[in-house]
Amino acid sequence: APAEQPQVVVNAHGLPYLDARLPVRKRVADLLSRMTLAEKAGQMTQAERGALRSQGDIAAYGLGSLLSGGGSVPNPNTPESWARMIDAYQLRARATRFQIPLIYGVDAVHGHNNVVGSTIMPHNIGIGAGRDPDLARRAGAVTAKEVRATGIPWDFAPCLCVTRDERWGRSYEAFGEDPALVTAMETVIEGMQGAASGKDLSRNDKVLTSAKHFVGDGGTAFGSSATGSYTIDQGVTKVTREELEAVHLAPFAEAVKRGTGTVMPSYSSLDVIGDDAGPVKMHANAAMINGVLKGRMGFDGFVISDWQAIDQIPGDYPSDVRTSVNAGLDMIMVPTDYPGFVTALKDEVTAGRIGGARIDDAVSRILTQKFRLGLFEKPYADTTHLEEIGSPAHRAVAREAAATSQVLLKNEGALLPLRPSQKVYVAGSNADDLGNQSGGWTISWQGSSGRITTGTTILEGMRKAAPGADITYSKDASAPTAGHDVGVVVVGETPYAEGVGDVGNGHDLELSAADKAAVDRVCAAMECAVLIVSGRPQLIGDRLGAVDALVASWLPGTEGDGVADVLYGKRPFTGQLPVTWPRSEAQLPVNVGDSVYDPQFPYGWGLTTLTKPAAGGEAALRAVAAAARVLEATGQEDSRVARDLVARARLIVQERIGTDMTAAVAKPFAEAEHLRLTGDLSGAVARLTAAYRAAG
Ligand code: BGC
Repeated sequence: APAEQPQVVVNAHGLPYLDARLPVRKRVADLLSRMTLAEKAGQMTQAERGALRSQGDIAAYGLGSLLSGGGSVPNPNTPESWARMIDAYQLRARATRFQIPLIYGVDAVHGHNNVVGSTIMPHNIGIGAGRDPDLARRAGAVTAKEVRATGIPWDFAPCLCVTRDERWGRSYEAFGEDPALVTAMETVIEGMQGAASGKDLSRNDKVLTSAKHFVGDGGTAFGSSATGSYTIDQGVTKVTREELEAVHLAPFAEAVKRGTGTVMPSYSSLDVIGDDAGPVKMHANAAMINGVLKGRMGFDGFVISDWQAIDQIPGDYPSDVRTSVNAGLDMIMVPTDYPGFVTALKDEVTAGRIGGARIDDAVSRILTQKFRLGLFEKPYADTTHLEEIGSPAHRAVAREAAATSQVLLKNEGALLPLRPSQKVYVAGSNADDLGNQSGGWTISWQGSSGRITTGTTILEGMRKAAPGADITYSKDASAPTAGHDVGVVVVGETPYAEGVGDVGNGHDLELSAADKAAVDRVCAAMECAVLIVSGRPQLIGDRLGAVDALVASWLPGTEGDGVADVLYGKRPFTGQLPVTWPRSEAQLPVNVGDSVYDPQFPYGWGLTTLTKPAAGGEAALRAVAAAARVLEATGQEDSRVARDLVARARLIVQERIGTDMTAAVAKPFAEAEHLRLTGDLSGAVARLTAAYRAAG
């Protein structure tokens, strides 16, 4: 903290709200009773740090919050300068009448991803592939520790979107297409916040979470954006009431149970089939925010708008402010014209168009979280864990997450794992690119290629995993020569974040021409494994026939070592598809449970290189049953033993099925996975058994 920081002495003015021994409820009521309308309006305002006209504005407007939008970073971008920057802002906030601390927020969506040198986790789609709730919790805990160490108590994560169409550019921010899978991964909230009661939030290694984007962000229809453009980001989600409940709302009900401190509405509109309302912007959707989230689900945290999202509500600015606050928004991410917002909000209240009770409710919700976070007692960065940012221990968790996220889609002749004695030819656009393997929301908003932070590329990881091995690398796969035992071609996407649909921007689901050429050249010359590093499935189509092994690597983050671990058999492949892998563009959208379901690889698919149990029909069925019994007995889906047993049972079924995923076999297989995630273990076993029997 800065040298000139004022000492915070408990109860210095004898005012009850400063007394940390009092219950939060009493502290909130006391402070609120002293505040003016202007002070309340300030608390409801969140400005972008880079848009501050001067630091003095923090006190002048009594701002409740600041954020760093993607890429809004201090210079130099080091953990120390983040902590110093937050402290300087906090010092300004403390210079107000009631010394109400700021609550600073960032998008740490896969590690503390704005900060150079931090530990970058796989994006959520890879965590979903890993299907390990305990690992999701540990990854969340690492992220929280790195974020809080820089003085930041609030993370705009996790994204609880359920992706229904992978042409959506934010697909990688989702854990998957199945609400049961998304829900199972919400252990990440506990990792970040600690106990659901909020009692751990004042710890120096925990942060407040923001479940986003409420609700239906992953369900927007292709080509139906309200702005009329082709992108499906921020478009319209048209669903039946049943689908809304089962697919999109269910993960938010779980987040509320787990005590998420904040919720962020979606930019998208919701159009419930059968309601006469037509599409309603979520930031104006009182029925969903007041009615369902705060009412029926009993959410008692605060609702933070998305970036400038209220501007998209039809009508003039005062009406945007009135509509959104009356719909239940508590804090508005303005982010640039904060004076304009504060004025409009005060005017609407003075004119009686927003009730005083609504304002008091919003401010109470915000203050409650600030008290819980311990910010009144400790507003400045507690840098105890600053040195742990990017530490070997934290990277070990990210490495484990990267390894478990790898999905082995095909493995002819058991090409993988590689053996150190093999001569390997490595090629492709994403074999040696730290930025590409980290994806969007890494250092900058959209992410970028190249050595943008500290970490290990997949190629570097392979060289470390097999130190003596003969590994040749050629990015563009120019003239692969004979004399190599196996080729490893790493292809896929370059980074992007929001606003990306399918058409244009070069971001469709096709591999680039260069990537295709690299695959073709290498796979024609030798046995080959292809790794696809991307935020969503890429169309491999008929090329699959020429490829011996195929791996969906997703966006593994800074620890390429984790990918190398499974490539060289130091850890088994255990990942399973978190989304359906389509054969063609024409199949989209395609999701497990569809009446017509004939994808290239079904939801839940993934070969495992775990040691094989004894073959034989009866043994196979016994293994499936044993797995179910262990799951039932422990009642813990994150029991390692149970996970292994299930994976083994899966292996047996898959061996029989092979990679010829006819619809008849694919469907029960995918359904079994769905049932397991919803907790219906005997149902899951019955389907696995059916799949096994169908395979003969
Ligand atoms: C995104 C949110 C994010 C916010 C703040 C918005 O554009 O939709 O997910 O939390 O920016 O950076």
